[in-house]
Amino acid sequence: MNPISQVVRATRPIYRKLSTTVPNGAAAKPIPTTGMCFELNDEQKALQDLARKFTREEIMPVAAQYDKSGEYPWPIVKKAWEVGLMNGHVPEHCGGVGNFGVFEECLTSEEIAFGCTGIVTAIGGSGLGQTPVIIAGNKEQQKKYLGRLIEEPIVAAYCVTEPGAGSDVAGVKTKAEKKGDEWILNGQKMWITNGGVANWYFVLARTNPDPKCPASKAFTGFIVEREWAGVNPGRKEQNMGQRASDTRGITFEDVRVPKENVLIEEGAGFKIAMGAFDKTRPPVAAGATGLANRALYEATKYAMERKTFGVPIAQHQAVSFMLADMAIGVEASRLAWQRSAWMVDHGQRNTLMASVAKCFASEVANKAAADAVQIFGGNGFNTEYPVEKLMRDAKIYQIYEGTSQIQRLIISREILTAAKQSNA
Ligand SMILES: Cc1cc2nc3c(=O)[nH]c(=O)nc-3n(C[C@H](O)[C@H](O)[C@H](O)COP(=O)(O)OP(=O)(O)OC[C@H]3O[C@@H](n4cnc5c(N)ncnc54)[C@H](O)[C@@H]3O)c2cc1C
Repeated sequence: MNPISQVVRATRPIYRKLSTTVPNGAAAKPIPTTGMCFELNDEQKALQDLARKFTREEIMPVAAQYDKSGEYPWPIVKKAWEVGLMNGHVPEHCGGVGNFGVFEECLTSEEIAFGCTGIVTAIGGSGLGQTPVIIAGNKEQQKKYLGRLIEEPIVAAYCVTEPGAGSDVAGVKTKAEKKGDEWILNGQKMWITNGGVANWYFVLARTNPDPKCPASKAFTGFIVEREWAGVNPGRKEQNMGQRASDTRGITFEDVRVPKENVLIEEGAGFKIAMGAFDKTRPPVAAGATGLANRALYEATKYAMERKTFGVPIAQHQAVSFMLADMAIGVEASRLAWQRSAWMVDHGQRNTLMASVAKCFASEVANKAAADAVQIFGGNGFNTEYPVEKLMRDAKIYQIYEGTSQIQRLIISREILTAAKQSNA
């Protein structure tokens, strides 16, 4: 038996217990009455161990190879699916175990990101595509589309961004027009993670052409299948980092979408698309934390081995303080994602905290990766060493799922709204 299967076998009873004692991510968990606790429970520890072992054995040996080839990591995605590291949040009525909250998803994201954030984005991109269906899908839609992800190792994608609209989601131009029992979808999406490999997409389209119609009513969310006529993914984009992840533009040309594939109702799309971020930004923050932790790990190891002026460079305070700053960043980022995930799992509004975690962790990851390159000196600039990949991979954390500027916009709005309410 391979070592991963052994871990899965050993933890299976725990998962079963977990699935009966912990509701799926959609349901609120009861607030513990025992006060603060920074300890993972046994189930979470087992899940973390599984993800760590999987990362060490299955991902780290091949991460550089995928980075170089830019190939989609299907063999790893399939193994992650087999051992239960994907789709843990899919409810039981869809055939899933429904045992992951956002917290558990974050735990696995941080571990996998230690090995390769391109691969964590390939996996996380599917979670992002599924989230609108989890928060807004009816039972039939969930059973059909989330159930499919349980039956076979396939992935989903989230299609909101367009060539002319990223931060400004209300500027989306893709449109859908109602014709009888169908919607006819036309438009172009851009920068879609899993764009070329997904089995189905969440697509946001404008359904009210009146420019005066508020965003909260002008857009509708659809589930669109990859195989439908008129769905055309473009070429794989050559990105700076996270190159194992598949990013593409997608054109929708007179795609016929049955009315059964509308999420909630006409006009509800904007809220669904934005609402997904409260659940998906904490795992992005956790991924950035994993990358920062890897930078700290590699830089510490190197600083203890590399000698200048007769001593290991770790003994130069200028170097050891860079390590200390990385450790400060990793610890604080982890606490931020943990709190943001815990809040949403317990039914609390976490919009501010999800943005705090995403913004902070992505900046920590970029600083940690750049400092790791600095500690490696000339070697850091070379592809034979692991840290230049970390620096390239880190950048996207400040861009996707809302740029750092947009996170600050959200945070400042949340603070000002709360201040106004407390003064009222
Ligand atoms: C690798 C990759 C994967 C992605 N995956 C997906 C995906 O799966 N699905 C999806 O829908 N999208 C995806 N995206 C798109 C991503 O979310 C957008 O690129 C991002 O939101 C920024 O939008 P933009 O590129 O249009 O930049 P713009 O919105 O044009 O922003 C350009 C710059 O202006 C700043 N800016 C814009 N507005 C303001 C403001 N009001 N105040 C201050 N500064 C502002 C931005 O912060 C940024 O620095 C992905 C992108 C990449 C590169």
